[in-house]
Amino acid sequence: MKIVHKHTITALLLSLQFVYGIAQNSGIDTSLPQSIEENFNYQEYFTENTMRYDFHHAGNSNNEYYLFDRLKREGLWAGSKKALINPFDYGEQHFRIVDAESGKTIYKNNYCTLFNEWQTTAEATEVSRSMPEGIIFPEPKRDFYIEIYARNKVTKVMEKKHSHRVKVNDYNIRSYNAEHETMEIHIGGSIEHSLDIVLLPEGFTCDEKDKFAEACRKWADALFSYEPFRQNMFRINIRAVWATSKESGISEPGHGVWKDTNLGARFFTFGSERYQMIEDFQAVRDVAASAPYESIFILTNTTKYGGGGIYNFYGLGSAGNIRTGEVYVHEFGHSLMGLGDEYVEVGNTVSSFYPAGKEPWEANLTTFVNFDKKWKNMIADDTAIPTPFDSIMLSTPQEELIIGAYEGGGYLEKGIYRPTPQCMMNQLRNFCPVCQKAIVEYLDYICK
Ligand SMILES: [Zn+2]
Repeated sequence: MKIVHKHTITALLLSLQFVYGIAQNSGIDTSLPQSIEENFNYQEYFTENTMRYDFHHAGNSNNEYYLFDRLKREGLWAGSKKALINPFDYGEQHFRIVDAESGKTIYKNNYCTLFNEWQTTAEATEVSRSMPEGIIFPEPKRDFYIEIYARNKVTKVMEKKHSHRVKVNDYNIRSYNAEHETMEIHIGGSIEHSLDIVLLPEGFTCDEKDKFAEACRKWADALFSYEPFRQNMFRINIRAVWATSKESGISEPGHGVWKDTNLGARFFTFGSERYQMIEDFQAVRDVAASAPYESIFILTNTTKYGGGGIYNFYGLGSAGNIRTGEVYVHEFGHSLMGLGDEYVEVGNTVSSFYPAGKEPWEANLTTFVNFDKKWKNMIADDTAIPTPFDSIMLSTPQEELIIGAYEGGGYLEKGIYRPTPQCMMNQLRNFCPVCQKAIVEYLDYICK
């Protein structure tokens, strides 16, 4: 995540300047309690279906609250039946499903939210607000607790913020009936052992279905034109849900343009013109639930440049812009597994996202506080750390492949380091070897 106002941008980064996202790290989460066991029998604890917990994430820059909304039973669980305890230390938040009788954590997943980002804005120092959120997990067979954790803003340690005991026979749990038509864009493997991506339309009217279908094919083509996604096509599924908007296009509040669209996507999020996002995540999940899914990406019906991506939340990009393909893949790097932005904003020296003395959780950024658990072992013995590099303008393709620790990244000029001069998470080139390795490790986990 990042502060979305008050920054300067280099000419080099014009294409990326407002495409924000939340990022992520490649270390195993050492904060997990001993009671968490990964290899237990799925069928003993869960049904075949998905359960969804909706709530409102409320607060301001200093405080946050989780206000329960409702529980739903959705369709088939699309995740692995073995990857039940996310072992990575990625994300600003995580949640746990705890078996009420035994006290054992039976499911854990990590994520970030738009609300996490809003908390870093100037507005959050003056006013409290809320955003609708929802999390999904395999439906437990027995009564359980849902626990939500968030990182302490200073220590960056996860703290429990919310706990709610749920009775599985509660008649208030409603069933969701899929109401939208779905399309198969690319099927690489089984639902259980593949990454299941769902593409959602936003700002397409009922007579623009063919246009959306074509945009979905372009999204898949873009993803599979980059490694390591190309070589992992066999374990990636892409489906689309068709849902219409009353009006064509996307809202641009800063230009006085408001469109009546299905999900309420808008430019000018948090005052940044090209930051295009949706605040109502429950509305997003309502549409996504028509297909089995683990990862959501929204295609917006506009030619205007922009988008965003938040870890295990959703990614979003304009379907009609000339750089659509690269932006899709960059934002997907954020939304799939929280890769950090490797670019620099000139003049930017302080960030609440990457405070000095704290190791970022993102796999592709380091402050050297805990470099051993990042990509240090991928650097050749004769490469200096930090790795000197005068100007990224002068780099050759060969130089760009040298793995080191190059100063600048995570929007900051100093004190934070990235693996190579160039990357998809920097200037929309190919993913660097460190990002590629982290993506493959994440896919290995998801597809177990
Ligand atoms: Zn990278």
